Amino acid sequence: MSSGILNLRYDIGGDLSKFTKSVEKAEELVKEVDEIFVENGAPKEVYGLDTAGIDELARKAAAAGIRFIPIPQRHIGSEYLPDVISSIRQKLEKRGVKILLNTKVESIGQGKVIINGSVVKTDYILAAPGRVGADWFAAQARALGVKLTHLPVDIGVRVEVPAVVYEPVVRVNRDPKFHIQTKTFDDFVRTFCTNAEGWVMEERYDDHVGVNGQSLRNKKSKNTNFAFLVHVGLTQPVTDTNAYGRSIAYLATTIGGGRPLIQRMGDLRAGRRSTWERIDRGHVTPTLRSVTPGDISMALPGRIVTDIIEGLERLDKVVPGVASDSTLLYAPEVKLYAMQINVDQNMETSVPNLFVAGDGAGLSRGIVTAAATGLLAARGIIKKSGSEKSPRLS
Ligand SMILES: Cc1cc2nc3c(=O)[nH]c(=O)nc-3n(C[C@H](O)[C@H](O)[C@H](O)COP(=O)(O)OP(=O)(O)OC[C@H]3O[C@@H](n4cnc5c(N)ncnc54)[C@H](O)[C@@H]3O)c2cc1C
Repeated sequence: MSSGILNLRYDIGGDLSKFTKSVEKAEELVKEVDEIFVENGAPKEVYGLDTAGIDELARKAAAAGIRFIPIPQRHIGSEYLPDVISSIRQKLEKRGVKILLNTKVESIGQGKVIINGSVVKTDYILAAPGRVGADWFAAQARALGVKLTHLPVDIGVRVEVPAVVYEPVVRVNRDPKFHIQTKTFDDFVRTFCTNAEGWVMEERYDDHVGVNGQSLRNKKSKNTNFAFLVHVGLTQPVTDTNAYGRSIAYLATTIGGGRPLIQRMGDLRAGRRSTWERIDRGHVTPTLRSVTPGDISMALPGRIVTDIIEGLERLDKVVPGVASDSTLLYAPEVKLYAMQINVDQNMETSVPNLFVAGDGAGLSRGIVTAAATGLLAARGIIKKSGSEKSPRLS
Protein backbone atom coordinates (compact mmCIF):
# COMPACT_ATOMS: atom_id res chain seq x y z
CA MET A 1 0.00 0.00 0.00
CA SER A 2 3.01 2.29 -0.17
CA SER A 3 2.76 5.33 -2.44
CA GLY A 4 6.35 4.75 -3.42
CA ILE A 5 7.50 8.27 -2.78
CA LEU A 6 11.26 8.46 -3.17
CA ASN A 7 12.64 11.20 -0.93
CA LEU A 8 15.80 12.22 -2.73
CA ARG A 9 17.67 13.63 0.25
CA TYR A 10 20.39 11.88 2.23
CA ASP A 11 19.08 13.23 5.56
CA ILE A 12 15.39 12.31 5.23
CA GLY A 13 14.38 8.88 6.52
CA GLY A 14 17.68 8.60 8.36
CA ASP A 15 21.02 10.32 7.93
CA LEU A 16 23.26 8.54 5.43
CA SER A 17 26.17 10.91 6.06
CA LYS A 18 26.62 9.22 9.46
CA PHE A 19 27.73 6.13 7.54
CA THR A 20 29.49 7.68 4.56
CA LYS A 21 31.25 10.27 6.81
CA SER A 22 30.72 12.82 4.04
CA VAL A 23 27.66 14.67 2.76
CA GLU A 24 28.96 14.46 -0.81
CA LYS A 25 29.25 10.68 -0.68
CA ALA A 26 25.81 10.42 0.94
CA GLU A 27 24.33 12.53 -1.88
CA GLU A 28 26.04 10.31 -4.48
CA LEU A 29 24.51 7.26 -2.83
CA VAL A 30 21.01 8.78 -3.05
CA LYS A 31 21.61 9.57 -6.73
CA GLU A 32 22.67 6.00 -7.35
CA VAL A 33 19.60 4.55 -5.62
CA ASP A 34 17.38 6.93 -7.57
CA GLU A 35 18.97 5.89 -10.88
CA ILE A 36 18.32 2.23 -10.07
CA PHE A 37 14.64 2.96 -9.46
CA VAL A 38 14.36 4.92 -12.72
CA GLU A 39 16.16 2.18 -14.67
CA ASN A 40 13.57 -0.22 -13.27
CA GLY A 41 10.52 1.81 -14.23
CA ALA A 42 10.09 4.69 -11.77
CA PRO A 43 8.73 7.78 -13.57
CA LYS A 44 11.17 10.39 -14.90
CA GLU A 45 9.37 13.34 -13.34
CA VAL A 46 10.78 14.82 -10.10
CA TYR A 47 8.70 17.10 -7.88
CA GLY A 48 9.99 19.76 -5.55
CA LEU A 49 12.38 21.60 -7.87
CA ASP A 50 10.35 24.83 -8.12
CA THR A 51 12.80 27.13 -6.31
CA ALA A 52 10.52 30.20 -6.35
CA GLY A 53 7.70 28.18 -4.76
CA ILE A 54 10.08 26.62 -2.24
CA ASP A 55 11.50 30.02 -1.21
CA GLU A 56 7.99 31.43 -0.78
CA LEU A 57 6.90 28.46 1.35
CA ALA A 58 10.09 28.55 3.44
CA ARG A 59 9.54 32.29 4.06
CA LYS A 60 5.92 31.77 5.11
CA ALA A 61 6.91 28.88 7.36
CA ALA A 62 9.77 30.83 8.96
CA ALA A 63 7.37 33.70 9.74
CA ALA A 64 5.18 31.19 11.61
CA GLY A 65 8.19 29.73 13.47
CA ILE A 66 8.18 26.53 11.39
CA ARG A 67 11.04 24.93 9.49
CA PHE A 68 10.19 23.82 5.97
CA ILE A 69 12.47 21.11 4.55
CA PRO A 70 12.48 21.14 0.75
CA ILE A 71 12.92 17.67 -0.77
CA PRO A 72 13.11 16.62 -4.41
CA GLN A 73 10.76 13.67 -4.75
CA ARG A 74 9.81 11.02 -7.24
CA HIS A 75 6.34 9.48 -6.95
CA ILE A 76 6.09 5.90 -8.21
CA GLY A 77 2.45 5.34 -7.14
CA SER A 78 1.08 2.28 -5.37
CA GLU A 79 -0.25 0.74 -8.58
CA TYR A 80 3.17 0.87 -10.33
CA LEU A 81 5.30 -0.37 -7.44
CA PRO A 82 4.78 -4.10 -8.16
CA ASP A 83 6.17 -3.58 -11.70
CA VAL A 84 9.26 -1.81 -10.37
CA ILE A 85 9.82 -4.57 -7.81
CA SER A 86 9.32 -7.24 -10.51
CA SER A 87 11.88 -5.57 -12.74
CA ILE A 88 14.45 -5.51 -9.93
CA ARG A 89 13.63 -9.11 -9.06
CA GLN A 90 14.06 -10.32 -12.65
CA LYS A 91 17.48 -8.65 -12.89
CA LEU A 92 18.57 -10.29 -9.65
CA GLU A 93 17.33 -13.68 -10.79
CA LYS A 94 19.18 -13.31 -14.11
CA ARG A 95 22.33 -12.94 -12.05
CA GLY A 96 21.63 -16.19 -10.26
CA VAL A 97 19.98 -14.88 -7.12
CA LYS A 98 17.47 -17.37 -5.75
CA ILE A 99 14.55 -15.69 -3.99
CA LEU A 100 12.51 -17.72 -1.50
CA LEU A 101 9.16 -16.01 -0.94
CA ASN A 102 6.90 -16.80 2.04
CA THR A 103 9.88 -18.38 3.74
CA LYS A 104 10.73 -17.33 7.24
CA VAL A 105 14.26 -17.29 8.57
CA GLU A 106 13.71 -18.83 11.99
CA SER A 107 17.01 -17.89 13.55
CA ILE A 108 20.44 -16.52 12.79
CA GLY A 109 23.66 -17.91 14.16
CA GLN A 110 27.32 -17.23 13.39
CA GLY A 111 27.81 -18.31 9.79
CA LYS A 112 24.40 -19.97 9.52
CA VAL A 113 20.68 -19.40 9.35
CA ILE A 114 17.84 -21.78 10.16
CA ILE A 115 15.12 -22.03 7.50
CA ASN A 116 12.28 -24.56 7.77
CA GLY A 117 14.18 -26.37 10.49
CA SER A 118 17.25 -26.82 8.25
CA VAL A 119 20.63 -25.24 8.84
CA VAL A 120 21.89 -23.22 5.88
CA LYS A 121 25.60 -22.44 6.16
CA THR A 122 26.69 -19.06 4.84
CA ASP A 123 29.88 -17.07 4.39
CA TYR A 124 28.05 -13.79 4.90
CA ILE A 125 24.62 -12.79 6.19
CA LEU A 126 22.88 -9.55 5.24
CA ALA A 127 19.83 -9.18 7.48
CA ALA A 128 17.22 -6.62 6.30
CA PRO A 129 14.00 -7.71 8.03
CA GLY A 130 12.15 -4.36 7.84
CA ARG A 131 9.96 -2.91 10.55
CA VAL A 132 7.83 -6.06 10.67
CA GLY A 133 10.84 -8.20 11.54
CA ALA A 134 12.54 -5.66 13.81
CA ASP A 135 11.61 -7.25 17.16
CA TRP A 136 12.52 -10.73 15.94
CA PHE A 137 15.86 -9.46 14.66
CA ALA A 138 16.60 -7.52 17.88
CA ALA A 139 16.16 -10.80 19.80
CA GLN A 140 18.51 -12.59 17.36
CA ALA A 141 21.07 -9.79 17.62
CA ARG A 142 20.94 -9.81 21.43
CA ALA A 143 21.46 -13.58 21.51
CA LEU A 144 24.51 -13.13 19.26
CA GLY A 145 25.88 -10.37 21.49
CA VAL A 146 25.40 -7.51 19.00
CA LYS A 147 25.06 -4.07 20.63
CA LEU A 148 21.69 -2.27 20.26
CA THR A 149 20.39 1.22 21.10
CA HIS A 150 16.75 2.37 21.55
CA LEU A 151 15.67 5.12 19.12
CA PRO A 152 12.93 7.71 19.75
CA VAL A 153 9.39 6.77 18.69
CA ASP A 154 6.90 8.95 16.77
CA ILE A 155 3.34 9.11 18.11
CA GLY A 156 0.43 11.11 16.74
CA VAL A 157 -2.45 11.19 14.30
CA ARG A 158 -3.22 11.15 10.58
CA VAL A 159 -4.74 14.45 9.51
CA GLU A 160 -7.23 14.61 6.63
CA VAL A 161 -8.25 17.87 4.95
CA PRO A 162 -9.95 18.79 1.69
CA ALA A 163 -7.38 18.48 -1.11
CA VAL A 164 -7.89 22.17 -2.02
CA VAL A 165 -6.61 23.20 1.41
CA TYR A 166 -3.25 21.47 0.93
CA GLU A 167 -3.00 22.03 -2.83
CA PRO A 168 -0.85 25.21 -2.68
CA VAL A 169 1.70 23.28 -0.62
CA VAL A 170 1.76 19.96 -2.49
CA ARG A 171 2.06 21.90 -5.73
CA VAL A 172 5.51 22.95 -4.47
CA ASN A 173 6.38 19.66 -2.75
CA ARG A 174 4.37 16.42 -2.95
CA ASP A 175 5.33 15.35 0.56
CA PRO A 176 6.10 18.62 2.35
CA LYS A 177 8.03 18.28 5.59
CA PHE A 178 7.28 20.91 8.24
CA HIS A 179 9.21 20.78 11.52
CA ILE A 180 7.65 22.49 14.54
CA GLN A 181 8.75 23.01 18.18
CA THR A 182 5.58 23.26 20.25
CA LYS A 183 4.93 26.13 22.67
CA THR A 184 3.90 24.41 25.90
CA PHE A 185 6.30 21.45 25.94
CA ASP A 186 8.92 22.51 23.40
CA ASP A 187 8.40 19.11 21.76
CA PHE A 188 9.37 18.29 18.18
CA VAL A 189 6.38 17.70 15.89
CA ARG A 190 6.57 17.06 12.15
CA THR A 191 4.47 16.35 9.10
CA PHE A 192 5.25 13.07 7.40
CA CYS A 193 3.98 10.87 4.56
CA THR A 194 1.61 13.25 2.76
CA ASN A 195 -0.85 11.63 0.35
CA ALA A 196 -2.27 14.29 -1.94
CA GLU A 197 -5.78 13.35 -3.12
CA GLY A 198 -5.23 10.04 -1.36
CA TRP A 199 -6.83 7.70 1.13
CA VAL A 200 -6.36 7.06 4.83
CA MET A 201 -5.62 3.36 5.36
CA GLU A 202 -5.94 1.05 8.32
CA GLU A 203 -2.77 -0.71 9.45
CA ARG A 204 -3.63 -3.96 11.19
CA TYR A 205 -1.17 -5.75 13.44
CA ASP A 206 -1.68 -8.95 15.43
CA ASP A 207 -2.65 -7.09 18.59
CA HIS A 208 -3.41 -3.46 17.64
CA VAL A 209 -4.54 -1.21 14.82
CA GLY A 210 -3.02 1.95 13.43
CA VAL A 211 -3.45 4.29 10.48
CA ASN A 212 -1.39 5.19 7.46
CA GLY A 213 -2.13 6.65 4.04
CA GLN A 214 -1.76 5.93 0.35
CA SER A 215 -2.15 7.78 -2.93
CA LEU A 216 -2.47 6.49 -6.48
CA ARG A 217 -1.18 8.07 -9.67
CA ASN A 218 -4.35 7.43 -11.71
CA LYS A 219 -7.13 7.61 -9.15
CA LYS A 220 -7.75 10.59 -6.89
CA SER A 221 -9.87 11.26 -3.82
CA LYS A 222 -11.14 14.70 -2.78
CA ASN A 223 -8.94 14.75 0.33
CA THR A 224 -5.29 14.98 1.27
CA ASN A 225 -3.88 13.24 4.34
CA PHE A 226 -0.59 13.39 6.22
CA ALA A 227 0.85 12.07 9.46
CA PHE A 228 1.38 14.58 12.28
CA LEU A 229 3.80 13.05 14.72
CA VAL A 230 5.39 13.93 18.05
CA HIS A 231 8.96 12.68 18.52
CA VAL A 232 9.33 10.92 21.90
CA GLY A 233 12.70 9.89 23.28
CA LEU A 234 13.07 8.31 26.74
CA THR A 235 16.17 8.41 28.92
CA GLN A 236 15.79 7.68 32.65
CA PRO A 237 14.77 5.22 34.11
CA VAL A 238 13.00 3.75 31.07
CA THR A 239 14.52 3.74 27.59
CA ASP A 240 12.22 1.32 25.79
CA THR A 241 10.42 3.74 23.48
CA ASN A 242 8.81 0.93 21.48
CA ALA A 243 7.11 -0.52 24.58
CA TYR A 244 5.78 2.99 25.34
CA GLY A 245 4.54 3.50 21.75
CA ARG A 246 2.97 0.07 21.65
CA SER A 247 1.10 0.56 24.94
CA ILE A 248 -0.42 3.76 23.51
CA ALA A 249 -1.43 1.88 20.34
CA TYR A 250 -3.10 -0.84 22.49
CA LEU A 251 -5.01 1.77 24.48
CA ALA A 252 -6.23 3.49 21.30
CA THR A 253 -7.26 0.09 19.88
CA THR A 254 -9.22 -0.66 23.06
CA ILE A 255 -11.02 2.71 23.06
CA GLY A 256 -11.79 2.30 19.34
CA GLY A 257 -13.27 -1.20 19.86
CA GLY A 258 -10.60 -2.74 17.63
CA ARG A 259 -10.72 0.03 15.01
CA PRO A 260 -8.83 3.30 14.61
CA LEU A 261 -10.42 6.38 16.19
CA ILE A 262 -11.65 9.34 14.17
CA GLN A 263 -12.35 12.79 15.60
CA ARG A 264 -13.00 16.24 14.17
CA MET A 265 -10.42 18.84 15.18
CA GLY A 266 -13.24 21.05 16.53
CA ASP A 267 -14.48 18.26 18.80
CA LEU A 268 -10.96 17.55 20.08
CA ARG A 269 -10.50 21.26 20.88
CA ALA A 270 -13.92 21.41 22.58
CA GLY A 271 -13.15 18.30 24.68
CA ARG A 272 -16.06 16.22 23.34
CA ARG A 273 -16.17 13.00 21.36
CA SER A 274 -17.08 12.96 17.67
CA THR A 275 -20.11 11.10 16.38
CA TRP A 276 -20.95 10.11 12.80
CA GLU A 277 -23.64 12.78 12.87
CA ARG A 278 -21.12 15.52 13.72
CA ILE A 279 -18.61 14.20 11.18
CA ASP A 280 -21.24 14.01 8.43
CA ARG A 281 -22.22 17.63 9.18
CA GLY A 282 -18.64 18.75 8.52
CA HIS A 283 -17.33 19.38 5.02
CA VAL A 284 -14.60 16.68 5.03
CA THR A 285 -15.89 13.23 4.06
CA PRO A 286 -13.62 10.57 5.58
CA THR A 287 -11.85 8.32 3.06
CA LEU A 288 -11.62 5.58 5.73
CA ARG A 289 -14.98 4.64 7.21
CA SER A 290 -14.10 1.48 9.12
CA VAL A 291 -13.23 3.68 12.09
CA THR A 292 -14.82 4.57 15.42
CA PRO A 293 -15.86 8.18 16.05
CA GLY A 294 -14.57 9.00 19.52
CA ASP A 295 -12.25 11.09 21.62
CA ILE A 296 -8.57 10.91 20.79
CA SER A 297 -7.70 12.52 24.13
CA MET A 298 -8.90 9.27 25.79
CA ALA A 299 -6.24 7.37 23.84
CA LEU A 300 -3.17 9.58 23.50
CA PRO A 301 -1.28 11.15 26.43
CA GLY A 302 -2.27 14.76 27.27
CA ARG A 303 1.16 16.04 26.30
CA ILE A 304 0.85 14.56 22.81
CA VAL A 305 -2.69 15.89 22.36
CA THR A 306 -1.50 19.39 23.37
CA ASP A 307 1.41 19.11 20.93
CA ILE A 308 -0.96 18.08 18.11
CA ILE A 309 -3.43 20.92 18.73
CA GLU A 310 -0.69 23.57 19.12
CA GLY A 311 1.27 22.22 16.16
CA LEU A 312 -1.72 22.17 13.79
CA GLU A 313 -2.77 25.66 14.86
CA ARG A 314 0.74 26.89 14.04
CA LEU A 315 0.70 25.04 10.71
CA ASP A 316 -2.61 26.75 9.94
CA LYS A 317 -0.61 29.99 9.53
CA VAL A 318 1.24 28.41 6.60
CA VAL A 319 -1.61 26.26 5.28
CA PRO A 320 -4.84 28.10 6.14
CA GLY A 321 -7.70 25.71 6.90
CA VAL A 322 -5.55 22.87 8.20
CA ALA A 323 -6.72 23.41 11.80
CA SER A 324 -10.36 24.10 10.94
CA ASP A 325 -13.08 22.48 13.05
CA SER A 326 -13.93 20.02 10.24
CA THR A 327 -10.38 18.69 9.86
CA LEU A 328 -10.39 14.96 10.57
CA LEU A 329 -7.88 13.30 12.88
CA TYR A 330 -7.36 9.52 12.90
CA ALA A 331 -5.47 7.75 15.69
CA PRO A 332 -3.25 6.09 16.51
CA GLU A 333 -0.43 6.70 14.06
CA VAL A 334 2.57 5.25 15.84
CA LYS A 335 5.90 4.83 14.10
CA LEU A 336 7.82 2.22 16.04
CA TYR A 337 11.43 2.17 15.04
CA ALA A 338 13.69 -0.77 15.33
CA MET A 339 16.40 -0.88 17.92
CA GLN A 340 19.46 0.54 16.21
CA ILE A 341 22.08 -2.09 15.53
CA ASN A 342 25.60 -0.79 16.01
CA VAL A 343 27.45 -1.06 12.68
CA ASP A 344 30.64 0.13 11.03
CA GLN A 345 30.56 2.12 7.78
CA ASN A 346 30.16 -1.09 5.78
CA MET A 347 27.04 -2.01 7.80
CA GLU A 348 28.90 -4.89 9.44
CA THR A 349 27.91 -5.64 13.04
CA SER A 350 30.23 -6.61 15.87
CA VAL A 351 29.61 -10.25 14.83
CA PRO A 352 32.03 -10.88 11.95
CA ASN A 353 30.35 -11.34 8.54
CA LEU A 354 26.89 -10.40 9.87
CA PHE A 355 25.80 -7.33 7.90
CA VAL A 356 22.51 -5.43 8.29
CA ALA A 357 20.52 -2.90 6.27
CA GLY A 358 17.27 -0.99 6.28
CA ASP A 359 14.51 -0.19 8.74
CA GLY A 360 14.69 -3.47 10.66
CA ALA A 361 18.19 -2.65 11.85
CA GLY A 362 17.15 0.90 12.80
CA LEU A 363 19.41 2.36 10.10
CA SER A 364 16.71 3.92 7.92
CA ARG A 365 13.08 5.03 7.81
CA GLY A 366 12.27 5.16 4.14
CA ILE A 367 12.71 3.51 0.76
CA VAL A 368 15.74 5.47 -0.44
CA THR A 369 17.72 5.32 2.79
CA ALA A 370 16.89 1.62 3.28
CA ALA A 371 18.08 0.89 -0.27
CA ALA A 372 21.23 3.00 0.28
CA THR A 373 22.18 1.04 3.39
CA GLY A 374 21.60 -2.11 1.33
CA LEU A 375 24.13 -0.89 -1.23
CA LEU A 376 26.64 -0.06 1.51
CA ALA A 377 26.23 -3.51 3.04
CA ALA A 378 26.51 -5.27 -0.34
CA ARG A 379 29.69 -3.34 -1.09
CA GLY A 380 30.98 -4.14 2.40
CA ILE A 381 30.53 -7.85 1.70
CA ILE A 382 32.16 -7.55 -1.73
CA LYS A 383 35.12 -5.72 -0.20
CA LYS A 384 35.52 -8.34 2.49
CA SER A 385 35.14 -11.29 0.16
CA GLY A 386 37.56 -9.83 -2.35
CA SER A 387 34.98 -10.26 -5.15
CA GLU A 388 35.21 -7.86 -8.08
CA LYS A 389 31.56 -7.95 -9.04
CA SER A 390 29.50 -4.78 -8.69
CA PRO A 391 26.10 -4.98 -6.98
CA ARG A 392 24.68 -2.54 -9.55
CA LEU A 393 21.34 -3.70 -10.95
CA SER A 394 21.51 -1.95 -14.30
C1 LIG B 1 1.88 1.81 4.20
C2 LIG B 1 3.31 2.27 4.08
C3 LIG B 1 3.64 3.25 3.17
C4 LIG B 1 4.96 3.68 3.02
N1 LIG B 1 5.23 4.63 2.07
C5 LIG B 1 6.50 5.05 1.91
C6 LIG B 1 6.83 6.01 0.91
O1 LIG B 1 5.98 6.47 0.14
N2 LIG B 1 8.13 6.42 0.81
C7 LIG B 1 9.12 5.93 1.63
O2 LIG B 1 10.28 6.34 1.47
N3 LIG B 1 8.84 5.00 2.58
C8 LIG B 1 7.56 4.55 2.73
N4 LIG B 1 7.27 3.60 3.68
C9 LIG B 1 8.39 3.03 4.44
C10 LIG B 1 9.15 2.04 3.56
O3 LIG B 1 8.27 1.08 3.02
C11 LIG B 1 10.24 1.36 4.36
O4 LIG B 1 11.06 2.37 4.93
C12 LIG B 1 11.10 0.41 3.50
O5 LIG B 1 10.31 -0.55 2.84
C13 LIG B 1 12.15 -0.28 4.36
O6 LIG B 1 12.82 -1.21 3.56
P1 LIG B 1 13.51 -2.49 4.21
O7 LIG B 1 14.14 -3.23 3.09
O8 LIG B 1 14.34 -2.10 5.37
O9 LIG B 1 12.31 -3.37 4.81
P2 LIG B 1 11.01 -3.96 4.14
O10 LIG B 1 10.69 -3.29 2.85
O11 LIG B 1 9.96 -3.96 5.22
O12 LIG B 1 11.42 -5.47 3.81
C14 LIG B 1 11.73 -6.40 4.82
C15 LIG B 1 11.26 -7.77 4.39
O13 LIG B 1 11.82 -8.78 5.24
C16 LIG B 1 10.81 -9.73 5.55
N5 LIG B 1 11.15 -10.42 6.80
C17 LIG B 1 11.10 -9.96 8.08
N6 LIG B 1 11.49 -10.90 8.95
C18 LIG B 1 11.80 -11.99 8.21
C19 LIG B 1 12.24 -13.31 8.55
N7 LIG B 1 12.46 -13.71 9.80
N8 LIG B 1 12.44 -14.21 7.52
C20 LIG B 1 12.22 -13.83 6.21
N9 LIG B 1 11.80 -12.61 5.85
C21 LIG B 1 11.58 -11.72 6.84
C22 LIG B 1 9.56 -8.88 5.65
O14 LIG B 1 8.41 -9.69 5.55
C23 LIG B 1 9.75 -7.93 4.48
O15 LIG B 1 9.26 -8.49 3.30
C24 LIG B 1 5.97 3.14 3.84
C25 LIG B 1 5.65 2.14 4.77
C26 LIG B 1 4.34 1.71 4.90
C27 LIG B 1 4.02 0.63 5.91
